Amino acid sequence: MIKVRNLSKHFGDLVVLKDINADIHKGEIISIIGPSGTGKSTLLRCLNLLEIPTGGNIFIDDIPLLDTKTNVPKLRRKMGMVFQSFNLYAHLSVLENLTIGPIKLLGKTKAEANRKAIELLKLVGLAEKVYSFPDELSGGQKQRVAIARCMAMESEILLFDEPTSALDPTMVSEVLAVIRRLAREGITMVIVTHEMEFARNISSRVFYMDEGLIYEEGTPQQIFDNPQLEKTKAFINRIRSLNCHISGINYDLYALQGEMETFCEKHMLTKKVSGYVVLIAEEVLCLQTDFSDINISLSYSEKDGSLEMICESAGKPFNPIIEGAEDNIGLKLILGRCISVDYRYERGKNILNLKVKGE
Ligand code: ADP
Ligand code: MG
Repeated sequence: MIKVRNLSKHFGDLVVLKDINADIHKGEIISIIGPSGTGKSTLLRCLNLLEIPTGGNIFIDDIPLLDTKTNVPKLRRKMGMVFQSFNLYAHLSVLENLTIGPIKLLGKTKAEANRKAIELLKLVGLAEKVYSFPDELSGGQKQRVAIARCMAMESEILLFDEPTSALDPTMVSEVLAVIRRLAREGITMVIVTHEMEFARNISSRVFYMDEGLIYEEGTPQQIFDNPQLEKTKAFINRIRSLNCHISGINYDLYALQGEMETFCEKHMLTKKVSGYVVLIAEEVLCLQTDFSDINISLSYSEKDGSLEMICESAGKPFNPIIEGAEDNIGLKLILGRCISVDYRYERGKNILNLKVKGE
């Protein structure tokens, strides 16, 4: 359905896309992942010609998009794009947001457009917001309207550019649920996302972008569990775990806790679990005696949902679990929020391994 051949995009001297090649088949769901600044948005924007590629070509149903004879507006209508920032018309009601395109661009009658719009609003769970204005909706609701609006244009391909990254964490799941629902309807989708668990569950294939290329592609299992190339491996490991280093007693506890919270949000862990993590980290640090060189890492396994914190500290052997007094409140707080806490001393490091309780 979509064929990309030797696609490149330069901004002046900056080469963002070097040589992109891809085939996307009808009904496929492609997730694009990768570090920021690697051209993921640029690729999506090239696909629907919001950016004009520097070289190469894109074929939609074998018709070259970059050929001067091609009816670009018509081809482009096959594609709908959902942006991070919703881009709804603020002065139009939800219903009008959904019908203006079909009436003006697809030549639908008002009645037809209204009927379809209401059907789509039902699909995204917003039938009762027909006459609301964007201002009256939450971020998650706005994004669902934006998705329905793309569908109203009878797009055959939906492009999503980090559809949940502007949302409050509590609203991420409602939007992901709607996208999942559309996936079942067999619509072709290309989704740039950093919701890795979602990408794993929904995608038929995952593209990892780096170096101006689709650096590695494969099934979610291949990319997430068994990446082959160096940069993919490093990226997958990095998103799996968070590493914080402390090199003195005057470390910034709040910044550290903030990073841990963000990590938990990114992996869609609940507020409760995120609260445990923040508290355990604080108490674990309270139990330390030597702050010259401490590493705290947090790893989340998408496979079994387990969450592990490892605290490595330099200095003399010191087991806080035994040596911390029996009535140490901090220790009690930790033990109450962990499935297990293990201590060992290895190569000059005190290693504390904590498995955090889930729900
Ligand atoms: P990603 O979505 O992977 O984070 P982007 O596609 O947004 O990456 O951007 C890739 C690079 O291209 C970045 O260095 C960005 O600054 C640059 N870039 C994107 N759009 C433009 C533009 N319109 N003009 C100049 N540089 C741009
Ligand atoms: Mg981007």
